[in-house]
Amino acid sequence: MNLKQVQKKFGTHEKCVSYLEKLRWGKTVRCAYCESTRVIKAKSEKGRYKCYDCNKSFSVLVGTIFQDSKLKLNDWFLITVLVLNAKMGISSKAISRQTGIPLKTCWLTSMKIRCAMIDKKTELHGVLQMDESYFGSSPEKKITKNTPLNSPVLSTVYEKRGRGTKKTAVVGIVETGGSVKTKIIDKLTTRNLMAMLKKYVKTDESVLVTDGFRSYAKMDEAIEHITVKHKEKTKGGLNTNTIEGYWSIIKNGIKGNYRALSKKYLPFYLVEYDYKYNRRNKTQAMFEEFIANALTDESCMLNYKPIGDTKEVIYG
Ligand SMILES: [Zn+2]
Repeated sequence: MNLKQVQKKFGTHEKCVSYLEKLRWGKTVRCAYCESTRVIKAKSEKGRYKCYDCNKSFSVLVGTIFQDSKLKLNDWFLITVLVLNAKMGISSKAISRQTGIPLKTCWLTSMKIRCAMIDKKTELHGVLQMDESYFGSSPEKKITKNTPLNSPVLSTVYEKRGRGTKKTAVVGIVETGGSVKTKIIDKLTTRNLMAMLKKYVKTDESVLVTDGFRSYAKMDEAIEHITVKHKEKTKGGLNTNTIEGYWSIIKNGIKGNYRALSKKYLPFYLVEYDYKYNRRNKTQAMFEEFIANALTDESCMLNYKPIGDTKEVIYG
């Protein structure tokens, strides 16, 4: 779906409502509160129904990311297309410039759109790569020509890729040629990494490739596990290049489009990048699939309460 198509097909709020009703209910309207089919069209307002069983009135928007929004659905759909089609991400400022919709509305709407990008079920299998990356600006000073060789700055650089620094650690698991799942993990302990592995991976049908970081050492107990040295080209064709490439995609995307974002909201952006990466070969079907997902009432991230220091700023 591109901008021209969305404006032609979903140019008015009413057209969008009929589309949502068809996607959500098919031919039989069900109460959004009690699932009863004993409903009648309300006379007061088009698109509203009344339920004989629970006596509540509802529209197709109840229990979806669109509920209680003042923004017309055609504008929602327009923003959705802009977000979905921006492979590397799009800032709410850019959305506002392109649509003329106020910045605050664009920000809130695009955050809700990210909520509907959560994959309900992730089950990775095959040859997998697992790795972590660190997000955040270094508090340390930059190294210059005159930095003494015994400077503590150099010792922090020596800590490979930020292990042991205060940056935010994100762990990712990627299938060779398939999907990815990333997650912020504050403490990179074996226990936490194992929990992520077990939650998202079919361990009996997979091989896991990691680098030699000690917290991965015990993965052998749960899955067939191969360790490759970091930067080592291949070990029988096995490496962690795919996941490392994926970190570059996210970091370049954040730097290029969002510039800086807080740790509080990083999970939303990770969801967005994972979602797009996982659908990189089926972008045509993405719009309808997205809207169908947006209609389900799993609002875990809509009710997201950030933990920790919310003022901490993350740079890609
Ligand atoms: Zn009802």
